[in-house]
Amino acid sequence: MPELNLVLLGPPGSGKGTQGERLNDDLRLPYYATGDILRGAVRDATELGKSAKEYMDRGDLVPDEVIVGVIAERIDSEEAKDGFILDGFPRTTPQAEALDAKLVELGRAVTAVLLIDVADEEVVRRLGGRRTCEAEGHVYHVEFNPPKVEGVCDVDGSPLIVRDDDQPDVIRRRLDTYHEKTEPLVSYYEGKGVLKRVDGERDPAQVTEELRGLLGSLRS
Ligand code: ADP
Ligand code: ADP
Repeated sequence: MPELNLVLLGPPGSGKGTQGERLNDDLRLPYYATGDILRGAVRDATELGKSAKEYMDRGDLVPDEVIVGVIAERIDSEEAKDGFILDGFPRTTPQAEALDAKLVELGRAVTAVLLIDVADEEVVRRLGGRRTCEAEGHVYHVEFNPPKVEGVCDVDGSPLIVRDDDQPDVIRRRLDTYHEKTEPLVSYYEGKGVLKRVDGERDPAQVTEELRGLLGSLRS
């Protein structure tokens, strides 16, 4: 089977985590979500966490040099030899270039970039109601995707929390950061002929179906 080196791209709240979890169940590829990795590092108070926390709390990106090594190491690992799903990386042009350079070194390339398109107002609505599993980062929404028992993760029973950066002023800042720093990657990957765009403003199940269709055509 050909390898699948996938990137999920889209604004905060577009559904990358929600869809990534479902694709992950289908594809059985390692799933690397830099936001989850960084939040874990902050919780464990590692050096990575200490250098990332202040940026995350403000809704800014952590510096490229802090995150690039973290991802390069994972892509170079045995578990990722048949491919991977990246969620939240790359987020800047230098990060995309670093990813390309790492893949070239390994004789590989990005197979597809799945852009989940969602307008800013919808992002604000979604992030305002997001609840996140404290242990593993499983994602819910109080209205659009509620857990079976309020405040408790369906998957592992952990408490559901509101992320520090899901406060209205930080959400706005993250959106601005997305438009300024991350959106240029759309044309970067279009130029490489690997961008696939899906309409993210539909029911989560419909978005999953479209993504599955796209991935099916990549594999055949
Ligand atoms: P969301 O899922 O809402 O888009 P993430 O969980 O991916 O947010 O990221 C949370 C925060 O972690 C970001 O606002 C940023 O501070 C930091 N972060 C995550 N990935 C990266 C990255 N690739 N480069 C820089 N900062 C990142
Ligand atoms: P991202 O990882 O891109 O930041 P998430 O997957 O965490 O996005 O989704 C953000 C919020 O929006 C969560 O509360 C999630 O339950 C909700 N959500 C995700 N996809 C949809 C959708 N298609 N329609 C409505 N709400 C959604």
